[in-house]
Amino acid sequence: METLALDADPGCPFCQNLSDNPQCAFVNRSSTVSSFVNPRQFRPGSMLVIPNRHVATVFDMTPEEWSAVAVHAQQMAAAACAAFGAPGVNIFQNNGRSAGQTVFHVHIHVVPRPEGDEGPTIFGGAYFDKTPIAERFAIAARIREHLSGPIREQEALHRIE
Ligand SMILES: [Zn+2]
Repeated sequence: METLALDADPGCPFCQNLSDNPQCAFVNRSSTVSSFVNPRQFRPGSMLVIPNRHVATVFDMTPEEWSAVAVHAQQMAAAACAAFGAPGVNIFQNNGRSAGQTVFHVHIHVVPRPEGDEGPTIFGGAYFDKTPIAERFAIAARIREHLSGPIREQEALHRIE
């Protein structure tokens, strides 16, 4: 039995998975990222990809950790699609209660979608009317005001407007 890592939260179900949970079906593990079969199989092959470090949301991760988790999810998605003959896959994650996050250890959902799957989508185009372009320009400007660091500098090189 492994002991909990120094940064683990003993009350966190995913940290418990990473330490000694025999009920966790791991697909792959590295020094920084792990993936396991989601106990709730929304579709066959549904998985969760998590950083090994206990961090609540994407904003608590370093860019390197986020990159490692995202690349791992990409690889798991490709394998799951091949394994279950799925032509499509959802890769998504939620941050914060208002976004639907229920376990506060960052996790990416990988959900293969079989041919003809007419189950729910995360965002259906038909759910909403289009927002007028003037409003979309205003939204873009509002978000841009809050960019900082290298991504802000990039704006000067690739001028928008
Ligand atoms: Zn945790």
